[in-house]
Amino acid sequence: QAPVITIDGPSGAGKGTVSQIVAEKLGWHLLDSGALYRLLALAVSHHGMSTDDVETLQVLAEHLDIQFTHNDEGKIDIVLEGEVVTQAIRTEEVGNSASKLAAIPEVREGLLLRQRAFAQPPGLVADGRDMGTVVFPQASVKVFLTASAEERAERRRLQLEQKGAEVDMQELVKTIKERDERDANRSVAPLVPATGALVIDSTELTIDQVVEEIISEARK
Ligand code: C5P
Repeated sequence: QAPVITIDGPSGAGKGTVSQIVAEKLGWHLLDSGALYRLLALAVSHHGMSTDDVETLQVLAEHLDIQFTHNDEGKIDIVLEGEVVTQAIRTEEVGNSASKLAAIPEVREGLLLRQRAFAQPPGLVADGRDMGTVVFPQASVKVFLTASAEERAERRRLQLEQKGAEVDMQELVKTIKERDERDANRSVAPLVPATGALVIDSTELTIDQVVEEIISEARK
């Protein structure tokens, strides 16, 4: 069985970037589990499917035609049913649909084995919300990466302003706090640290410091 490092936490804590660097440094595979929920959301929209028929959603999740391939620039292309959708899955709209689908138990069940199949030698870094609690409870290292709501709002503000959007910080902090509350208390896969997880608060840390902490934990 290949070793697994799980990195869970709320959005804006830096999971995506940190997971990518840790995987690169160790030469391990990377699972961006959020991308799977986003891909499912995009497929549902492409096929004009209803989200009420949860059995069909589960079958689609189990059989979804997806590939993560290296392109000429050495980056990863995400391919859904033959079409490159690397950028298309990153919109707010797809993120919102993904988050609604993620609250359906049959959808989570349908994606479970597909996620576990990423655990191949020499090892896997798995980024998500329930990697340590549900998908890889036997992981050798479990991390819960968080940051204050204010800091995550600040990071989000920078992203939004780059896209030319206007941002009300108070409103952003409020939305983030409400979402934290909802995520932690939802009945399906609540966002809580896994048993034995190393909790890292990235509010005052650089990406490199977080990466170092995780790698030194992995080498113990
Ligand atoms: O991380 P990302 O924003 O790409 O994830 C999209 C949505 O998928 C999240 O808002 C969350 O609701 C859901 N998700 C999940 N469990 C995971 C990964 C993502 O519920 N392991």
